[in-house]
Amino acid sequence: MDINVALLKEICEIAGAPGFEKRVRDLVIDLVTPLVDEVKVDNIGNVIAIKKGIKNPDGKRVMIAAHMDEIGFIVTHIDDNGFLRFHTLGGFDPKTLTAQRVIVHGKKDLVGVMGSKPIHVMSAEERTKLPKTTDFFIDLGMPKEEVEKYINVGDPVTRDRELIEMGDCVNCKSIDNRVAVFILIETLKQLKNPAYDVYATFTVQEEVGLRGANVAAHGINPDFGIALDTTIAFDVPGAQAHEKVTELGKGTAIKIMDAMTICDYRMVEFMKQTADKGKISWQPEILVAGGTDTAGVQRMGKQGAIAGAISIPTRHLHQVIEMAHKKDIADSIALLKACLEDIDQYDWKH
Ligand SMILES: [Zn+2]
Repeated sequence: MDINVALLKEICEIAGAPGFEKRVRDLVIDLVTPLVDEVKVDNIGNVIAIKKGIKNPDGKRVMIAAHMDEIGFIVTHIDDNGFLRFHTLGGFDPKTLTAQRVIVHGKKDLVGVMGSKPIHVMSAEERTKLPKTTDFFIDLGMPKEEVEKYINVGDPVTRDRELIEMGDCVNCKSIDNRVAVFILIETLKQLKNPAYDVYATFTVQEEVGLRGANVAAHGINPDFGIALDTTIAFDVPGAQAHEKVTELGKGTAIKIMDAMTICDYRMVEFMKQTADKGKISWQPEILVAGGTDTAGVQRMGKQGAIAGAISIPTRHLHQVIEMAHKKDIADSIALLKACLEDIDQYDWKH
């Protein structure tokens, strides 16, 4: 179950709001360049790292997609007292923003706090209502003149939370989807003999609608596609058995469908057989709300791709304290590696 926690920490903690992925992209390029035959960056900003197949007479391409961006915010207004207003980039549950620290990425990084109305001055009616994202503002603790030296409308904002280990789990902001970035990089390190050409793609702007993956799949035109992303683990107090989606520590998850994709039944079966053969523990995943890069990978190539996804069970998804289990992370690396080595062995005609 040993994973390189120091590397995962570095990848999770770096900033990369949708459309502002430069820092995480530069880190990814540094990490993958020694591992592959070629690294390209397309115009929208996806990193495409290509590792040639050892036996690939038909020139088949396998695209693996892991999005680099994280849910974040963008500054929309600086008021007369130096408080910031913002818009969300990606889906937030507003109640989880209360009293969080964030980092505003202007001419320099400034720590801010998500402020809202204290309960002491709320009316009885206000106390019963769920907050909205528009109820919040960012407080930098500085007057307007000072704020404007560093911050402009349009600057991105990300959550501020470091990675820690808790039992056999890791806890940080941006486990979605840096854990998948980590899994893809660790797989490339271990992958000696891929059957077909592997296009390891680190996509941008997934959290605002799979925008990078759509462009990348159009350019790569893959025959096979596997997306890597987090999924819900609702294995917590109060959850009914049928609501859990996945559970932490029970293995990697093989996606059957999400709200935007019905995975190819052959890819699902291939993944299950490959996991069983390699004694890799796995659980099925059906996510009825929310989509992933799987959709772009499946549908944006000229003839579509035989596509599926490996998902990482994650508690507290889209909050500041996302949590995954080291065993599930290790199982995901093992399954992806085995799939890339054995993909030419499966009978895809049935
Ligand atoms: Zn994600």
